[in-house]
Amino acid sequence: MLEIVRDLEGRSRRERREIVSKWIEYFGLEYICEDYISFLGIGQNIIIPCKKEKRIAIGSHYDAVEGSPGANDNGSAVAVTLELARRLQDFDGEIGVTYFFFDQEEEGLIGSSSYLHLNKPKDILGLYNLELVGLGKNIALWPVKPDERGTLLQTFEEVAKNKGRYTFRFPQPVINTADHESFRRYGINDAFTITTITDEDLKLAPEFVNPDLSRREIQYVMQRSDVFRHYHQKTDKAKHLCEESLEMVTGLLYDSILAINSNPKKQEVVNVSV
Ligand SMILES: [Zn+2]
Repeated sequence: MLEIVRDLEGRSRRERREIVSKWIEYFGLEYICEDYISFLGIGQNIIIPCKKEKRIAIGSHYDAVEGSPGANDNGSAVAVTLELARRLQDFDGEIGVTYFFFDQEEEGLIGSSSYLHLNKPKDILGLYNLELVGLGKNIALWPVKPDERGTLLQTFEEVAKNKGRYTFRFPQPVINTADHESFRRYGINDAFTITTITDEDLKLAPEFVNPDLSRREIQYVMQRSDVFRHYHQKTDKAKHLCEESLEMVTGLLYDSILAINSNPKKQEVVNVSV
């Protein structure tokens, strides 16, 4: 999967879009390019659709912050989403999966909110959104409160626990928001973001979420963090990432989708308020 990240690294938005399409075609999958218009001009989401009555959404944005090569943010997530689509292409469960490569996340969640606004889907159970999944063996789930429940959330935690992996709920975003927010605003509440972090990052976690720290102090903490040191920087390159993290997240999502399908009758779409 690092090969895909390297492919995306340092490319323009248009080039990244072409690279995502190229890999989908290489894997023999069908996809849709959906244009939308926003106050920032025309954008384009890339979607690997599914025809099931109920579906799970997997989200990754393919755009990157200007000046950053965008390897971990968010080439890593694009690579995992592509690999998951490849591995599950012959899987025929009752609950399907739609894979999203959203545009313009960095400019205000524009791709994901446009998709929901244009399509008004009523068949999405929830969203596994991916951000920075290329480094570390611990998994941060955010924004997830201690008492929060949900099929996607609890299945993922259960699968991780059974595999001896650690997941940590972070009740609020560490630095920025992500595409899960568009889904929650739309009414799909079992929607959250998965990020991998190292043991060192985990030690710094209480400082990240400390509301008393100033922006400058948070920046100082970020510079000491393995993952966030490169966040939105020109150093966000594939050479800092590792295949094992990408593989871990892919495997956990794969098993979660199979686990949800093992009892599909229980999974109702109850949280859409449109
Ligand atoms: Zn991002």
